[in-house]
Amino acid sequence: MNLHAKCDVIIVGGGIHGVASAYFLAKKGLSVVLLERDYCGRSASGVNAGGVRTLGRVVPEIPLSLASSELWQTLDFLHGFDGAFVRTGQIKVAESVQDMQKLQERHNLLARHGFDHEKLIDQDQVRQIVPAIAAHVQGALWVSTDGFAFPYLIVQAFARQARLLHADIREQSPVKAIEHSGNHWRVSTPEQTIVGEKLLLCAGAWTPELARLCGDEIPVTPGGLMLMVTQRVPHFINPVLGATSRGLSFKQFANGTVVIGGALECDADTGQNYAELDFSRLANSARIVTDLFPFLNNVSITRAWSGIDGYAPDHTCIIGPSASVDNLYYACGFSSSGFQLGPASGQYLAEVIADNAENPRYQGLSPARFS
Ligand SMILES: Cc1cc2nc3c(=O)[nH]c(=O)nc-3n(C[C@H](O)[C@H](O)[C@H](O)COP(=O)(O)OP(=O)(O)OC[C@H]3O[C@@H](n4cnc5c(N)ncnc54)[C@H](O)[C@@H]3O)c2cc1C
Repeated sequence: MNLHAKCDVIIVGGGIHGVASAYFLAKKGLSVVLLERDYCGRSASGVNAGGVRTLGRVVPEIPLSLASSELWQTLDFLHGFDGAFVRTGQIKVAESVQDMQKLQERHNLLARHGFDHEKLIDQDQVRQIVPAIAAHVQGALWVSTDGFAFPYLIVQAFARQARLLHADIREQSPVKAIEHSGNHWRVSTPEQTIVGEKLLLCAGAWTPELARLCGDEIPVTPGGLMLMVTQRVPHFINPVLGATSRGLSFKQFANGTVVIGGALECDADTGQNYAELDFSRLANSARIVTDLFPFLNNVSITRAWSGIDGYAPDHTCIIGPSASVDNLYYACGFSSSGFQLGPASGQYLAEVIADNAENPRYQGLSPARFS
């Protein structure tokens, strides 16, 4: 390995946004060095619930999320090997008349913005999709093209494809210093210095500390998220299911285990790279599952884990050029739902970085909104 390499673009962070950007930049013919502190997928991108969800997005993220959905369906390497994207659909159920009203309002809001990807369905249609659902469920919002994927494998798939296009992905490479000299960035780890014309920071919850090394500020704060998984149970559900008024999202894998999560927050410490499991919240989430599927009452939880994501003040991701520092770009602040956005975020950043082509449809995601 050339320890003092030169390239067009330096990427810091080997989560889904880093490796997807490396892939799309290399595809455009740019030379790329990606520096990852641990190994690719070590943080949120490798341990998340794998939800591939356009359903329930904040409005400014919807155009990017729909573009990403297209890529999830069409990029060959996200399919065709064990663990890749499975198109099961995602459903958000209403447990009361008030919930049904909320879903109707959401449906109206999307229609006003010209979106029709979330379908409002009634009780009978829910039962056709999820025959085992509890009797009190009144209806749902449904997106048939959503689904889930195995996150760690997807990160590896992007990294592999990027390497095939000659992107230089360097693991065990923690960035400690960044300087801007002349028209170039000099980015250093304890063992190497990389010189590049443009710099993309996608270091998740750690992005603000790197931004400060560049003389910039990015308003991202860390938050912990938890998941748990049950023992194997007979197959009872296809889509990923969420509730309207109670934080819940869960899915059943082909092996019968059920992964339960959905806005299950906990304390996070970025210095220690550690998020503390909160067992009372996990128990509460398990209760919601048994309310909706009473036959799961005596099923055991076999494992719980946590990860850290970076949150933006408006819970909307931050993607695009810095508002104050030239040749500096960000993808961060994914606020608990950045996995699905990875493919389109990488594709968009490659257009912005290589062609200076900012897309007005993604203006609401720009770092400039905070300046
Ligand atoms: C438990 C959990 C469940 C989730 N479920 C879902 C879901 O179902 N669907 C969904 O869409 N999203 C989900 N998310 C959110 C999603 O995982 C994140 O939004 C997304 O993975 C963020 O990706 P990233 O590439 O920005 O950051 P990360 O995956 O955090 O990657 C950042 C990388 O930067 C590296 N890094 C940090 N500092 C440095 C440095 N100084 N030098 C070099 N490298 C550095 C880190 O090691 C890390 O690998 C979930 C998150 C968690 C934690």
